[in-house]
Amino acid sequence: MARNFDIAVFEGDGIGPEIMAPTVAVLEQLAAESDAYNLTFDAYPAGAAHYAKTGDSLPAASLEAAGKADAILLSAMGLPDVRYDDGTEISPQIDLRKAFNLFAGVRPVRIGPGHKTPLKIPDGREVDFVLIRESTEGLFYTQGTGEVTQDDARETLRITRDVSEKLFRFAFSLAQDRKAYGQGPGRVTCVDKANVFRAFAFFRSIFDKEAKAFPDLIADHAYVDATALWMVQKPWDFDVLVTENMFGDILSDLGAGLMGGLGVAPSADIGLEQAVFQPCHGSAPDIAGQGKANPMAMILSAAMMLEWLGLRHDVRAMTADGQRLRQAVEQIMQEGLAVTADLGGHATTNETGQAIMAALG
Ligand code: ATP
Repeated sequence: MARNFDIAVFEGDGIGPEIMAPTVAVLEQLAAESDAYNLTFDAYPAGAAHYAKTGDSLPAASLEAAGKADAILLSAMGLPDVRYDDGTEISPQIDLRKAFNLFAGVRPVRIGPGHKTPLKIPDGREVDFVLIRESTEGLFYTQGTGEVTQDDARETLRITRDVSEKLFRFAFSLAQDRKAYGQGPGRVTCVDKANVFRAFAFFRSIFDKEAKAFPDLIADHAYVDATALWMVQKPWDFDVLVTENMFGDILSDLGAGLMGGLGVAPSADIGLEQAVFQPCHGSAPDIAGQGKANPMAMILSAAMMLEWLGLRHDVRAMTADGQRLRQAVEQIMQEGLAVTADLGGHATTNETGQAIMAALG
């Protein structure tokens, strides 16, 4: 009998609802065709527009429902003109990360034919790596509470053993899964600045300790500055990279740039119990309501959700559908016909969504 999964949907702001609609449609089609799983979608309010209307950016009932769901599908959130009284942006995605301890920010970087990459990739090389950004501490530890006086400003970088152990275990397990699916050689690189900061030497020592539990994998290190260089010069060498919050924040945008832009960059924030799947980009208010938004980053995030749920609950058909969905998106990108303006095409958001559905057969 098909197993049911409850998906909490947050449609978001700006282009958020426009890219969520084709995403849910594609997922509904996949689930309808599958004997192995069924998906139930429930949308909950949150975001900047909701805050402007009600004074609440993430209602307690939405948070509770998200916590009970099997996975959370979250579209772009936030609007430049809607802010809290202290001037900071409305970002329920960060609130969810904190509420559910989603310590692993997963940012795949894949460059296939059709990606508008600024790189020249030699024949026979394939860029397919995953950057894992710790998402609850590091240099974001004092986010919003840093001390600022007339002449001095301080923020604290915090690395804890507990979170680092979970993070590294997650990174090694992911490398193992990728290896099992023939997607990588089984290599995890700890990206740090251990030559300068004691906190990063501590980070690295925990990595080395965790690596011992995975003797079938390669574990190595790289300094963050060299990693930025190599991401441009030889990104095909990487498999799984794992790093601190701020380093990951910066490197993941570099990764999105290598893939040809934010419109094709998916992501997931994963904890021990919950996971949020969302595009890397923001709500793009400059193109909202015009049917110009590229839904691929959102749809690729949904593909990651299927893979994660399938692996977690041992529903192989679901993991396979996640991969099929990613391949369908890549096929449309490669053909270059039904792509939106950011990829040099003329298709609308819905036309791209329909082309992806058709490519799924
Ligand atoms: P945030 O700070 O919320 O992440 P941002 O300031 O980085 O947002 P985005 O909203 O991500 O900005 O948009 C940056 C640029 O990329 C804009 O010009 C926007 O139109 C474009 N963009 C973002 N997402 C998409 C998309 N899915 N399709 C097409 N263009 C997009």
